[in-house]
Amino acid sequence: EPRTRFFNKEWINPNDDLTLFTNVTRVNAVVVVLVRNTELYQLLEAMRDFEDRWNKKYNYPYVFLNELDFMEEFKNKTSALTNAKTYYGKIPAHMWSYPSWINQTKAAESRNEMASKGVIYGGVESYRHMCRFNSGFFFQHELLLPFDYYWRLEPSVKFFCDIDYDPFLFMQKNKLIYGFTISLKEYEETIPTLWNAVKQFIKEYPQHIPENNLMKFISNDNGETYNLCHFWSNFEIGDLNFWRSKPYQDFFNHLDKLGGFFYERWGDAPVHSIAVGLFAQKSQVHFFNDIGYYHLPFQHCPPESEYHNTGRCHCDPKENFDMILHSCTPKWFTI
Ligand code: GDP
Ligand code: MN
Repeated sequence: EPRTRFFNKEWINPNDDLTLFTNVTRVNAVVVVLVRNTELYQLLEAMRDFEDRWNKKYNYPYVFLNELDFMEEFKNKTSALTNAKTYYGKIPAHMWSYPSWINQTKAAESRNEMASKGVIYGGVESYRHMCRFNSGFFFQHELLLPFDYYWRLEPSVKFFCDIDYDPFLFMQKNKLIYGFTISLKEYEETIPTLWNAVKQFIKEYPQHIPENNLMKFISNDNGETYNLCHFWSNFEIGDLNFWRSKPYQDFFNHLDKLGGFFYERWGDAPVHSIAVGLFAQKSQVHFFNDIGYYHLPFQHCPPESEYHNTGRCHCDPKENFDMILHSCTPKWFTI
């Protein structure tokens, strides 16, 4: 059952011209937040920005997901921050546990080894489940099944500029399947055998790989090796039906069988991005340059002053990640 803080007309500030936004076409879309109870206050901060900069004008519903039960305090405080409907879901065990074919001793050994080498999140078991869930399952959760588009939101992120249009509608109108703000190179130690797995998949499922795909974004040598480029998936606006499609399902199951989510530390960002690279076309992917966004330690700040004027941004364009060393956005521009 959704929690709703019903909109009370007496609370409206007469200076807020809410009528501006009441006649808009709404998309069948949802804000999706995978989060822990312990991150409540970091999440409220992100939601506050997200609401003020955008969603208070649209009231798209939220789905919060967790492998544990959400606390009452968590539900009350997040619901109080928005006029939109809020839904709280528990992740079923099969979406957050070891598949039968995984050797858990081997997984634990690999975590120890990665931790001793100082690989980021190398020793963290829950991080593996999180990445596998975001790669293969969030779009199948029963609370997300009714929806077609999603916007992923995380605790502690910031939105720097007003967003005065509906990115969901933009996605739908332009038949887009994926939108990003930051792209960068992955740590190779987290995915040593991922690209071999991808090449195996391409050989096994050539029917899933269209010719004019985005391979150029993820490989500099026509598929021989991975260039480590990926869209930073803590921000995503996407088409849920892309992840539910047969090509992606076959892709995820192929990867899942190989066990790299546990024996290595395959992230949902490279997995999603490689899938977009394999199955999508350039015209289906959008760089949301106008959305100023921060997730530790990087930010996208629109370099053009026009966005700062219309969007009242409060970020420093000099801190923009787009064109620095580890960014893949220059590569995006070349293709
Ligand atoms: P990072 O962005 O790679 O540093 O990883 P985060 O710690 O931000 O995790 C990514 C997302 O998954 C965030 O929205 C977290 O709140 C969420 N998350 C990470 N680990 C867990 C977990 O064990 N349980 C739950 N429920 N959420 C998690
Ligand atoms: Mn994060």
